[in-house]
Amino acid sequence: MKMKIELHKIPVRDVFEGYVNNQEDGVVGSAKKYFSRTNCIAYKIAGKYLNGSSIRQDYLETALKWITDREGCTIEEYMSLNHHNDDAAELINYFQDVIDWIEKIFIKYYKEMKGIEWGVLYNKYGSNPLDIASVTARVDELMADFDVTSKKGIYTYILSGEEKYLNIRKFDERTRKNVYAKQNGKCVGCGKEFKLSELEADHITAWSKGGKTIPENCQLLCKNCNLKKSDR
Ligand SMILES: [Zn+2]
Repeated sequence: MKMKIELHKIPVRDVFEGYVNNQEDGVVGSAKKYFSRTNCIAYKIAGKYLNGSSIRQDYLETALKWITDREGCTIEEYMSLNHHNDDAAELINYFQDVIDWIEKIFIKYYKEMKGIEWGVLYNKYGSNPLDIASVTARVDELMADFDVTSKKGIYTYILSGEEKYLNIRKFDERTRKNVYAKQNGKCVGCGKEFKLSELEADHITAWSKGGKTIPENCQLLCKNCNLKKSDR
């Protein structure tokens, strides 16, 4: 069962007073209580996804950062827009939507999920349909892939399809030297001779097609040939 909070009437100005002044007094049943106390609800439902601490207002700041990303405004603009709004439920509801979304899509928890800008991902990809079973299998597979050096980037990669977030392992200097000797100092593309420093290591079979970062899958190309290859 998912914990749902009772939505009290919360003056938005109290949220921001809490955020800006970090004062404890006079703010009862507010979003500050939701986001900013020891064992607050935000900590209970989302602590494992958030960096920082509720005491230092980090959670509240994160929630504000996410919702203002959605609104396309700064925290200050959001503050002044909502200054006369007596209800901070929008912020709380939004925050809970983000957490619900994470738990619906990425059903298996990994410690790498902590500290990701989930709200920003939700704002951008939250309405995209995903097949949960294949997402789950893919996360497991990428977590176990030695060549994926940024495990945190797996989530953004799955949502965006952009490989750069995985920071795929590069060939080390020893491999580069061995391949250089094997290629007799020549670029495999154009056959011209180059210094090792002028050649770029390239996966013969791309990582996305199952190629690993192992010596057998390494070739050296000059800048021009590598550029031509990646244009294809
Ligand atoms: Zn070349």
